[in-house]
Amino acid sequence: EPPRYDVVVIGSGGAGLAAAIQASDRDTKVLIVEKMSSIGGNTIKASVGMNAAGTRFQKMKGIDDCKEKFYQESLKGGQGLNNPELLRSFVDNAPEAVEWLADRGIVLNDITITGGMSIDRTHRPADRSAVGGFLISGLVRNISQRDIDVMLDTDVIDILMENGAVSGLRVKNEENEILTIYAKSIVVATGGFSANQEMVVKYRPELKDFVTTNHKGATGSGIALLENIGAGTVDMGEIQIHPTVEQTTSYLISEAIRGGGAILVSQKGERFFNEMETRDKVSAAIIGLPEHYAYIVFDEQVRLNNKAADEYIGRGFVVSADSPRQLADKLNMDMHAFLATLERYNVFVEKQNDEDFGRKTALRHPIHEGPFYAIQIAPGVHHTMGGVTVNTNTEVLDVNNQVIPGVFAAGEVVGGIHGGNRIGGNAVADIIIFGTMAGRNAANLARCS
Ligand code: ADP
Repeated sequence: EPPRYDVVVIGSGGAGLAAAIQASDRDTKVLIVEKMSSIGGNTIKASVGMNAAGTRFQKMKGIDDCKEKFYQESLKGGQGLNNPELLRSFVDNAPEAVEWLADRGIVLNDITITGGMSIDRTHRPADRSAVGGFLISGLVRNISQRDIDVMLDTDVIDILMENGAVSGLRVKNEENEILTIYAKSIVVATGGFSANQEMVVKYRPELKDFVTTNHKGATGSGIALLENIGAGTVDMGEIQIHPTVEQTTSYLISEAIRGGGAILVSQKGERFFNEMETRDKVSAAIIGLPEHYAYIVFDEQVRLNNKAADEYIGRGFVVSADSPRQLADKLNMDMHAFLATLERYNVFVEKQNDEDFGRKTALRHPIHEGPFYAIQIAPGVHHTMGGVTVNTNTEVLDVNNQVIPGVFAAGEVVGGIHGGNRIGGNAVADIIIFGTMAGRNAANLARCS
């Protein structure tokens, strides 16, 4: 006799874990199924933080923000393509999602900024470390405090339907056994498809041979599972390349480094773009350079403001020097051009006015405190904005926009929220906001059936 659950969650990234915790808190029996051998999905690699406008933590730091600005800036950053209802729900529910985490001991009370935003609204851990590891370990702690089952190394291969509503799943475990699991409702939280080269190139041929920042489980299999039961998809060609990826390891250099005051410099030793523009635009600017790469340059003050910087140093990505002169020398860069670039940028910081590229945010401090650092970077495939269609209750919609009963989805598997370009810090917000909503709705449905 197959096992029976109220709610089965597919995927153990941030969206899946949040859904499972919330469903369990609604007194339902929950199972998480994960195809990889460890928990955390691509979320564990999330770097910068979680965006929200109008939070308690912003107020504590004297940051005056409002939801309408967050909405408009996310819409502009998304090239106006975002689904307005989903984006509105996202913005409205963001502060509550920050509190939902805090209530569970996952406190994001330090705040920074990302490209395309006008105000510090990216919430991160107090020690300024990368958000992903902190978030996943906090969520896993909450999972272990509850009666939630987890199956690792188990790939969901089919969603089972009965009389038009979900009835369960078929899974393949490590021993290649095919098993059936019954469920009253399911939450599909299987992430995006950035690591599926074939699928990426199908929609965007020009991204062939780009590296990806994603873990290898980001194959988009959840989209296929849902399409098999009739789900619609949207924006599948909207694929984000992230501008600052270390190319030999595909390791992402966090936007928090620029948000802390770093600049981008070409091999010629010159700035070439507003570093705090959105990811699509900064990526295009780097690809437009003759050498198709650039350096992210920062000083000791920026390093001290970002724990991740020490990790990059430890991983050997960083060229360090005692003086700007020495840094230029090590990078084979025209020294006079580089010194002039720093001098000019430092004047812009003092005047809080970037006359060359119109950078308006994170002109935090002059770059003048040694040691000086540089990391060579170029763009890599990072986020797939497209995915399955859902309504504002996280219910999956079929190709005729009708609800598929019992099937909820949240996180990167869902399309439409981020339009043509996702803002840094909006993915972590997305998975917690809609992961908790999916868990709550899936639990409510399971309890009534
Ligand atoms: P999100 O950020 O939306 O939560 P993540 O990429 O962090 O997404 O997590 C998605 C998780 O789903 C990954 O751990 C991935 O291995 C898992 N996953 C993807 N497809 C399947 C599948 N068919 N069966 C089980 N787990 C899956």
